[in-house]
Amino acid sequence: MKLTESYWPAEPSITIEESTVGSALRAAAEQHGPRPAMAEGTPGRPEDRRRWSFDELVADAERVAGALLERFEPGERVAVWAPNLPEWVLLELGAGLAGVVLVTVNPAYQARELEYVLRQSGASGIFLVPEFRGNPMAASLEAVRPSLPALRESVSFEDWDALLATSPANPKLPDVRPSDPAQIQYTSGTTGFPKGALLHHRGLTNNARIFATLTDVRPGDTCLNPFPMFHTAGCVLGVLGTLQAGACHIPVYAFDPSLMLELAETERADIILGVPTVLLALLECPDLATRDLSRVRVALSGGATVPAELVKRVEASFGVQFSIVYGTTECSPLLTQVRLDDDFVDKTETLGRPVPQTEIKITDPETGKIVPCGEAGELCARGYCVMTGYYDMPDQTAAAIDDEGWYHTGDLASMDDRGFLRIEGRLKDMIIRGGENIYPREIEDLLFEHPKVADVAVVGVPDERWGEAVAAFVRPAPGEAPTEQELFDHCRAHLSPQKTPRHWRFLNEFPLTASGKIQKFVLRDQFMG
Ligand code: AMP
Repeated sequence: MKLTESYWPAEPSITIEESTVGSALRAAAEQHGPRPAMAEGTPGRPEDRRRWSFDELVADAERVAGALLERFEPGERVAVWAPNLPEWVLLELGAGLAGVVLVTVNPAYQARELEYVLRQSGASGIFLVPEFRGNPMAASLEAVRPSLPALRESVSFEDWDALLATSPANPKLPDVRPSDPAQIQYTSGTTGFPKGALLHHRGLTNNARIFATLTDVRPGDTCLNPFPMFHTAGCVLGVLGTLQAGACHIPVYAFDPSLMLELAETERADIILGVPTVLLALLECPDLATRDLSRVRVALSGGATVPAELVKRVEASFGVQFSIVYGTTECSPLLTQVRLDDDFVDKTETLGRPVPQTEIKITDPETGKIVPCGEAGELCARGYCVMTGYYDMPDQTAAAIDDEGWYHTGDLASMDDRGFLRIEGRLKDMIIRGGENIYPREIEDLLFEHPKVADVAVVGVPDERWGEAVAAFVRPAPGEAPTEQELFDHCRAHLSPQKTPRHWRFLNEFPLTASGKIQKFVLRDQFMG
């Protein structure tokens, strides 16, 4: 099929099931009962790690559901504020069975941010760890609690066994429908302001199953998951994807390259997930030379621009097939994916094609009209996976989902005549210099190819003459100190003058969201400050 305009119809090669988190869990347990379903992703001896079979997973999740229903009604919101613990996963599955809506909270949040999400979601309960990576979470909760009258219960994950003990022997679980809300996820804030995407069971379960099918996750595989649980990449693609494929899921407790490599070797991982920053850190980790990763079959990345150079390096160093995924929280999240048998150029340079059952179009942001193939515009998506809306924010919902059901991602992308998509940047990140549109991605890719550059972000900064000017923020490769002039010359050799960065900043660390994305608005603020 050769397209002329940038529109991809929903393709039915994988069917949509009327499933819920609970029905997906039960189906997996029926089919894979004694197989390994989950192992704790902590350092140390493999025999000391806690493990669950599918039978044990469903039994524990039912007890969690029973305990939740002693405290909450179906439909009530309950927050989870913790790193990637196995109990996080059990709570997700238990909440799914109980019809309780899980509000996922970033463990890096400070008291004010916590207060915002608990208030905005009207949460009646919270599960938390007392502290994580120096963040005094229990103390923060106590500080904001007096101003949150709706919050009735708080449960520490340290009291998990006591919680399970409160479940009746055979809890009566409610009927949960596929269209019922399953989670509220606060979007990660690369643009600054958090909104709670209300996601339904049908969207999450089907999206994860489609992902696992395209990624070729097989029964008996082991899948290493460092994506944070509070994000759909972690708790949907990671948890519900491996679950429905009959594979063993390892939530990596906290991202640390040595731990990832240790787990990959000792747990014999077949599949590794991670945002680009995570994969980059694995490549830079000295332990890479001594760890046996020969079993790893697929490495998968997304959530932020994946530089072509990184794909090449990962494929070469790990000897794996690489797949790039693209999606947004609001779409449960997966929208497009590189197929494992796509050719090398498509694999390294595109976001792949739309996944089954998802309509995609690229529109002119001014007129809303579909643009011809090859032209950049806003990527819009429609289908089973689109969120119900932003929780209790009708205006923001109407701004994001139009009357015809299209979700407007705010991403600039182009589609070629085969349906392969390329990301050009964020609508808001697009730099307009003297009326000309400049897409940071093109400049970032070029800089990433320079051997002295480890990581880079290009942003538009105010400029009196041109409106905006191009600024490049560079993290040098270990042991290197590139000069402005040599990077400028490298860009100028391949780019027209207006795209060549005029401002250069070198830094050792980028400001990242907790899910590992560079916060360009922070860089812009730093530049101006
Ligand atoms: P979130 O809702 O936090 O998952 O963020 C979604 C946004 O991340 C998208 O709208 C894109 O801007 C960005 N994103 C996700 N996947 C990719 C990818 N593979 N390449 C480039 N940007 C991506």
